[in-house]
Amino acid sequence: MHPDYVVVGAGVAGLRAAIELAVGGQVLVIAKDSLRESSSEYAQGGIAAAVSDDDEVALHEHDTLLAGDGLCDPAAVHILVEHGPEAIEELIGWGAEFDREGSKLAFAREGAHSRSRVLHAHGDSTGQEIARTLYRKAASLPNVAFRSYASVSDLCVDDEEVTGVTVHDGAGRTAIPARAVLLATGGLGQIYRDTTNPAVATGDGVAIAYRAGAVIGDIEFVQFHPTALHVEGAPSFLLSEALRGEGAYLRNSAGERFMHRYHEMGELAPRDVVSRAIFAEMQKTGAPHVFLDLTHLAPGRVQSRFPRIYETCLAYGVDLARDPAPIHPAAHYAMGGVKTDLDGRTNLRRLYAAGEVACTGVHGANRLASNSLLEGCVFGARAGKSMLAWSTHSDRAHLLTARVEPGPDERVRTIASQYCGIVRDADGLRRAIAELQALPPTNMGTVAGLIARCGLAREESRGGHYRSDYPNKRPVAVHSNVRQGQDVWFA
Ligand SMILES: Cc1cc2nc3c(=O)[nH]c(=O)nc-3n(C[C@H](O)[C@H](O)[C@H](O)COP(=O)(O)OP(=O)(O)OC[C@H]3O[C@@H](n4cnc5c(N)ncnc54)[C@H](O)[C@@H]3O)c2cc1C
Repeated sequence: MHPDYVVVGAGVAGLRAAIELAVGGQVLVIAKDSLRESSSEYAQGGIAAAVSDDDEVALHEHDTLLAGDGLCDPAAVHILVEHGPEAIEELIGWGAEFDREGSKLAFAREGAHSRSRVLHAHGDSTGQEIARTLYRKAASLPNVAFRSYASVSDLCVDDEEVTGVTVHDGAGRTAIPARAVLLATGGLGQIYRDTTNPAVATGDGVAIAYRAGAVIGDIEFVQFHPTALHVEGAPSFLLSEALRGEGAYLRNSAGERFMHRYHEMGELAPRDVVSRAIFAEMQKTGAPHVFLDLTHLAPGRVQSRFPRIYETCLAYGVDLARDPAPIHPAAHYAMGGVKTDLDGRTNLRRLYAAGEVACTGVHGANRLASNSLLEGCVFGARAGKSMLAWSTHSDRAHLLTARVEPGPDERVRTIASQYCGIVRDADGLRRAIAELQALPPTNMGTVAGLIARCGLAREESRGGHYRSDYPNKRPVAVHSNVRQGQDVWFA
């Protein structure tokens, strides 16, 4: 296989970039599982864009900056929201079917949004609809090929220039040279014991890029989704924020609503606030969960508006129309990642990153709900466009010899969950670093170690990073950076 461009990941970001790249040469999209196994496929609530009659791009921008808690890159946020309406139009043009009320698009409200601006598809299958649309478009282009069940293990690098990737599949290990490589490997939720993320979200892109010498930014900011199902033997299935937008209540184990004690917006407070409130209630009562209650909604509403969530919960023995669902917070989204500029470029020549694996600065310390599918579309396209600048292969392609042995990822999950979770402190983070260092190296161990090191260095609480020993915010918001062989630095 001799592609011109390699895209690692077949979620929204990778697929959107591949469509752009197809005009410049042969594109190979690689996915380590089936092409449909990605966070994009499971995204429920929707995609945010200022499209409705009572909305404005400036309001979407303001909400995104506010949620980011001082750490967003305003230029990146501006690009995201300004190109939002155009991205939606493009998806519709390619066949995406968003839900409508009559002939007009329907918009849902989600936490920390000042307007109802979240478009959704088939009720709660928005990511699946967008991924399906982008896949169909990419697969229709003669220059785009796909390889599933192939795992990229490392980048080929020579003198800070990326020349290709090494891939493991059933046939063994091969090197694929390329003019430029895009990392679109998604998130890292699997380093935690409780996560809403699918099994492929093991932070590979961050670990691979870090080993190759890329700068990793703001990796200590991990968003915990407040409402994941907590039923013995079931995965931490996400109960979308749109349920609270629809009027669901949070109740503690005594049956009391409690969110108004923590934030004036009650159940619709920003995610980090709701997660910490639930965590505090669980600690107070000793219960392993609180409850999300939809039983007061109009008869049939849950089933019609959230069919996939309703059916999944029913399969785990919870009838949302009749029973309050036991829920707890679970690791959901990585705000930081491989540091890029506004066109997806990293500090290594010919290496790009887009989507959840990237740190573009659009989410700052805390992502606004439903902004990540949009980020994948907008910044995936920008990265694809800017990769086209590489019109020749590097003549220095050779293999990186680094090899990662499979290792004890269960232990990593325990350490990350215990010490790098919703509430952190110096003792725990130091312990995490020491215990992770004692384990054989794995991608998940590398990523957990980076979160612990950056979390220890950030002596404040901001957005998704809460330190019980430093509960206040520092007056000036700074970004963390970490690179192989160097200490964490802030800028
Ligand atoms: C349950 C759930 C609900 C969500 N709901 C919403 C929502 O409503 N709205 C919203 O905006 N966001 C939502 N999110 C977040 C959003 O879905 C993700 O941030 C986004 O889809 C990430 O897209 P991506 O293209 O960056 O990565 P993904 O869609 O995760 O794709 C990653 C791809 O990389 C591949 N990959 C990973 N490692 C390797 C490797 N080593 N080698 C080869 N391939 C590799 C995977 O196989 C996969 O194809 C949700 C997330 C989850 C988990």
